[in-house]
Amino acid sequence: MLAAAVLVGTVATAGTAQADSCYTWNRTLSQGASGADVTQLQIRVAGYPGYGAVLAIDGQYGPATEAAVKRFQSAYGLSADGVAGPDTFSKIYQLQDADCSPAHFSFGELNRCNSTWGGGNVSAATAKENAKRAMWRLEALRHALGDKPITVTSGFRSKACNDAVGGASGSRHLYGDAADLGSGPHSLCTLAKRARYHGFNGILGPGYPGHNDHTHLDHRSSRYWSASRCGI
Ligand SMILES: [Zn+2]
Repeated sequence: MLAAAVLVGTVATAGTAQADSCYTWNRTLSQGASGADVTQLQIRVAGYPGYGAVLAIDGQYGPATEAAVKRFQSAYGLSADGVAGPDTFSKIYQLQDADCSPAHFSFGELNRCNSTWGGGNVSAATAKENAKRAMWRLEALRHALGDKPITVTSGFRSKACNDAVGGASGSRHLYGDAADLGSGPHSLCTLAKRARYHGFNGILGPGYPGHNDHTHLDHRSSRYWSASRCGI
């Protein structure tokens, strides 16, 4: 756990703006705002777009961002006004580690292939950024399912790593935005079904060829969901 989370728990002044090792917001954000701080907020609430939706990470605080902020606030027992102010940022600080990954997922977990994030279909920096964004959506999924551990069995893959496991040539694992989830404590179908609410355009699970032992989630550009044994 991160120092910030300990601090929040100890001081219990949710309204206090505080420096955070990853990122600190310096103003309250609401609909109509734009800028890099909106982008940073969107990354962290992108797991709350509503069923079948994907939140655009575009730095523009429009109605979809407001709705995602409301869902995030509701999920964590905050006043759901759709305005990102001190209480919302305090919760985010509590959830984020110094390296900007969410509290319950790590870059190492999302890359068991190499330490450079290189060799995929995008630059290393893009692959790592994509993995960070995937982790925030996974954090939302994890929270929605009762904050029980979720195991990522495969994340980013270089072309060599992807070939070694027989991955598809256009696999989203090559872009860093895919995560394969193992079963326990949740069933693979529970994971696949719930993922539909948390911003994943790609969902492949039991019943889809090669996916009876994991549920695959990714951030492809248009929706493709298939897990026939789960009714998806
Ligand atoms: Zn996969």
